Amino acid sequence: MRTVGDIRGLRAVVQAWKKEGLRVGFVPTMGNLHAGHFSLIELARRYADRVVASVFVNPTQFGPNEDYTRYPRSLAEDSVGLVEHGCDVLFAPTVEVMYPFGPEHALRIHVPDVGDTLEGAHRPGHFDGVATVVAKLFAMVEPDVAVFGQKDCQQLLVVRRLVRELALSLEIVTGPIVREPDGLAMSSRNRYLDAHQRTRAPELHATLQWMHDSFVEGHALHAVEGAALRRLQRAGFEPDYMVVRRAADLGIPAPDERTGLLALGAARLGHTRLIDNLAFD
Ligand code: AMP
Repeated sequence: MRTVGDIRGLRAVVQAWKKEGLRVGFVPTMGNLHAGHFSLIELARRYADRVVASVFVNPTQFGPNEDYTRYPRSLAEDSVGLVEHGCDVLFAPTVEVMYPFGPEHALRIHVPDVGDTLEGAHRPGHFDGVATVVAKLFAMVEPDVAVFGQKDCQQLLVVRRLVRELALSLEIVTGPIVREPDGLAMSSRNRYLDAHQRTRAPELHATLQWMHDSFVEGHALHAVEGAALRRLQRAGFEPDYMVVRRAADLGIPAPDERTGLLALGAARLGHTRLIDNLAFD
């Protein structure tokens, strides 16, 4: 595996592959890689001849009081894992490479509607940062296919909208959520949890499952959502939202809508903010 930090070096490798007629897959990450990330590398391999992964902790998608500076960084270990999972190139740029005018003066892409609700409402500016960095990365890597995890299902919808409106010529592929044996969705932020919080953390996934079961039993959505919030509060979380939405656009479902739905939740456990979701189909 080659590691490159500059755009010129990245382009040289990718252009050489393209000249050979090879299909290029891309997996953007913020590093501190776990089995969820590696599953996306393997998925990319199934859709492409060569795989590029990026590791970049993107400052513009963090709010002023969020964890940008303490976000876990572990490039040496990430690199070992990427080699083991068949990655061909690791693109690990600096902030200066990604934001030549500085993050505060960077161009910003706003994705309305699907980017404004839920995570977008609770983390103002977050999806502007995501859309901007993903557009930059796509322009640098020029992949034929890019792979994203269902774990960040709203991010995925934001990226799909970006690709559609900019008419980018690439395919977006989704990988399923990889979970710990107790149901907790794998996340780089799980390492912030202390031992006691870690034993409670699976309750987020358990509550999403309970929302699904209650929905199947025929309970009204708003009652299910309210009960889910209370259930998580009792378990020691501070939930931001626990909702059932349309999977296609995160719109609020009509009372008789039964298909194409998903439950999404975000909740703080101590200082750690966890998100998860569960498709109902
Ligand atoms: P991040 O490094 O958190 O920005 O995530 C990079 C990519 O990995 C995104 O497409 C995430 O949705 C995906 N991802 C993160 N956690 C998981 C997981 N537990 N299972 C599957 N994909 C994941």
